[in-house]
Amino acid sequence: MQKRTPPGSLASRGITVTTLTGAGVGRGSAVGPVLIMAEHLPAPEATPFTGDAAAEIERTLAALAETALELQATGERAGGEAKEVLESQALMAQDPAIADDVRDRIDGGVSGEYAVHEAFAQFQTMLTSLGGYMAERAADLGDVAQRVIANLRGVPVPGLPESDVPFVLVARDLAPADTALLDLTKVLAVVTSGGGPTSHTAILARSKGIPAVVGADGALGLVSGGVVIVDAAAGTIDSAPTDEAISAAQAAIAARAAAAAEPVTPGRLADGTAVPLLANVGSAADAASAIELGAEGVGLFRTEFLFLDAASAPTVESQEAQYRELFAAFSGKKVVVRVLDAGADKPLEFLTDDGEENPALGRRGLRALRAHEDILRDQLRALVEAADGTGVDLWVMAPMVADSEDGAYFTALARELGVRVAGVMVEVPSAALLAEQILDDADFISIGTNDLTQYTLAADRQLGTVANYQDPWHPAVLRLVGEAGRAGAATGKNVGVCGEAAADPLLAVVLVGLGVTTLSMSAAALADVRHELLGHTLAEAQELAAGVVASRTAAGARAKAAEIVAARRAADDAPEH
Ligand code: PEP
Ligand code: MG
Repeated sequence: MQKRTPPGSLASRGITVTTLTGAGVGRGSAVGPVLIMAEHLPAPEATPFTGDAAAEIERTLAALAETALELQATGERAGGEAKEVLESQALMAQDPAIADDVRDRIDGGVSGEYAVHEAFAQFQTMLTSLGGYMAERAADLGDVAQRVIANLRGVPVPGLPESDVPFVLVARDLAPADTALLDLTKVLAVVTSGGGPTSHTAILARSKGIPAVVGADGALGLVSGGVVIVDAAAGTIDSAPTDEAISAAQAAIAARAAAAAEPVTPGRLADGTAVPLLANVGSAADAASAIELGAEGVGLFRTEFLFLDAASAPTVESQEAQYRELFAAFSGKKVVVRVLDAGADKPLEFLTDDGEENPALGRRGLRALRAHEDILRDQLRALVEAADGTGVDLWVMAPMVADSEDGAYFTALARELGVRVAGVMVEVPSAALLAEQILDDADFISIGTNDLTQYTLAADRQLGTVANYQDPWHPAVLRLVGEAGRAGAATGKNVGVCGEAAADPLLAVVLVGLGVTTLSMSAAALADVRHELLGHTLAEAQELAAGVVASRTAAGARAKAAEIVAARRAADDAPEH
């Protein structure tokens, strides 16, 4: 068996590195050929063209025609809505007005690339000024121009690659739009060299159930077409896998598929202790898959996702309509709604202060809402109205709460406006340390381990370069979770976790051992977590937690947990005397 090596150390001594590491997103793994996402092309230079203009026109018109044919062929293969979009892009590439403009510009003394760039930009400006649907098509024009220029340069077309066979997508980073367009029948896994494990791009990949490793230094050096093994649970990419490694990975993939096919039961431990499993959602559209995958309710409704593009605060009526749609899908179930968490990685134009140097430490979450109480009041009113008559068990919580003064402000206002169950998120270390005081007022707490990790380790969750610190297995983070768990036990109140940590099956067991009573995660993770919980009693979860919090590092905590589980399995398998 080939020896695996961590990146960096051996490579510097001339030994081939076969394993890249990064932060894993999800629990899955994948085996397949790499396709590298081509980068956005730099704009062509405006230098005068001194070559043969007629030949340049011919070459450029041929690139336009070739692009149109490629777009049409891709549309045929894709089918559905993608076909319509790609066909309309093919028409743009064939537009006679654009061809005439390109011809005139080349005659005027510029290169084909520059003429295409300018001609498309002019049409883009025109469409944008028309507004509405036309303005939305402007971005499509920019995409067509990039394709034509790539054809002229003889380089790969920027954007998501196309392939007839399933592949592992490798990119510097993915824009949310790229993630939304991923063809799940083709993309086996995503590997990025940038991005952190709790960036919202990573969260989107998880919600689509695509295994991913982000912040994998050196990923762009992977060879297109080469077969790799991506292991999201381990956060590794094996770029030169042996046949044995491929067979083992394929067996693990099959075992995971079998766990996903297990009956969907309420979350519980081996001794029957109930641990309700809830879903994190960003819109009503997420409801159907969450219910199908066995979510017992919603543990985090990220309402700010609904308003990322809004220039002004949404009205009570428009909010009500959106909330009601989600609530209707969860009638009879608990739905925990978070009021707008604006700022830092999720700026909202109508709520976020411009120009903060450190927005993650600035006026975000509840701090922004306290400064705009009218917006908070409107949202609470809309939530109460929307829940009325839907049969939903509505819980409402505030993000980015620092202490019991923040918490008491929010719960008092929420109750004044008719919210029956009002709680707060524990995302700032101060709130974890003071959780018992917070629970004097709050009906519940929900730990946001993404931000709690960011603030405990002082590591920006969006920054790939510090992704190694963004690890919720870190004993410092887990000790804070333990504080919150103790506060819950002392007050008899609910302590949830709604950060990505809840989606890591073994870590989920540790969290329960630390006193967490409910777990909320991307629906795609529910089956794995449900399966893992069934393998541990509460006493075992507590033993695991005690071992883990005594560790010194996140890696040490993981290793300790694996050691305890392995020792337990060995004891279970030992013959009785
Ligand atoms: C968190 O911080 O863990 C959390 C759940 O909130 P978000 O990821 O939306 O900041
Ligand atoms: Mg958060």
